[in-house]
Amino acid sequence: MSQLLKNYDLERLAISTVASHTALQILRGAKKYGFRTIAVARGEAVAQFYRQFPFIDEVWVGDFANFRKTAEKLAANNAVFIPHGSYVEYVGWRQALEAPVPTLGCRELLRWEADQFKKMSLLEKAGIPIPRIYKTAEEVEGPVIVKLFGAKGGRGYFVARDRRELAERLKRVTEDYIIQEYLFGVPAYYHYFSSPVYSRLEIFGADIRYESNVDGRTFGWAEPTFVVVGNLPMVLRESLLPTIYTYGVQFLKAVEEAVGCKLAGPFCLESIIKDDMSIVVFEFSGRIVAGTNIYMGYGSPYSVLYFDKPMDMGERIAHEIKEAVKRGKIEHLFT
Ligand code: AMP
Repeated sequence: MSQLLKNYDLERLAISTVASHTALQILRGAKKYGFRTIAVARGEAVAQFYRQFPFIDEVWVGDFANFRKTAEKLAANNAVFIPHGSYVEYVGWRQALEAPVPTLGCRELLRWEADQFKKMSLLEKAGIPIPRIYKTAEEVEGPVIVKLFGAKGGRGYFVARDRRELAERLKRVTEDYIIQEYLFGVPAYYHYFSSPVYSRLEIFGADIRYESNVDGRTFGWAEPTFVVVGNLPMVLRESLLPTIYTYGVQFLKAVEEAVGCKLAGPFCLESIIKDDMSIVVFEFSGRIVAGTNIYMGYGSPYSVLYFDKPMDMGERIAHEIKEAVKRGKIEHLFT
């Protein structure tokens, strides 16, 4: 990618992404910092929606089954690409790994994210507390949550109270899955920004997901389900911040050592905080998460600590790219 970037006109960079997930935030931020902006939509109806926003210069309809062509066109248009969850869902991690367009962050992480066991092993390597993982149903002690490998946005998870209930439910499962200890506590998702420009990790904000039916008015009548329908802002007890920051630093170190790249840009650790205030991380995202949308337009509480002005994640990304261009560090951001 650094070879590809060498052919770019860095004074006329475009910032591009897929029209979904956090695209509005990313492209609005990019335009504020003076970049050309491109959204790639899945279908004409979606494209129409995005065309109403003046901060998006071009809206294309892309072929996600064969993304290579779109990626080549983006590169030909001097565009860098910001990946997010919907992009990976639409094109699949293999295509995302190979798309010939400079992509923010560490692409190789996608391979680790695609396999729930690999994913948890990376957190473990980082020395971050994780839930107990059971290899077989026979080993299970206490309540568990089962995650199917193809699960998206919390859909495809189920819980079982004990070994017997689990064995019964697993009879109907045909896909790969992971069995995790069910953690009791409150969920909390931490947003970070890893900055090659300032050589630092920034803590950006936090959110909680709003999930059917665990957060719904089900009166105990419905099965717990974890389908994400939105996100709620959260400020953390300040005494938790040093630990959360340390876990972020440890995660970056593990990515560098085990995956072999320095992760630049946004990422997220997803946790349960137990009633003894310990934090157990059950998931990570090596890219921007939709939970950052809650700060769109008015900025996150912690961004003021670094810049003395609020920024949302879209603005933070654009700021980094602009400064990286100025300081000759652009190849540190993209893979
Ligand atoms: P995920 O898609 O992995 O972010 O998880 C979706 C939701 O499942 C989370 O927001 C939590 O509410 C819940 N969850 C996931 N893993 C666990 C766990 N090990 N213990 C308790 N709840 C969990």
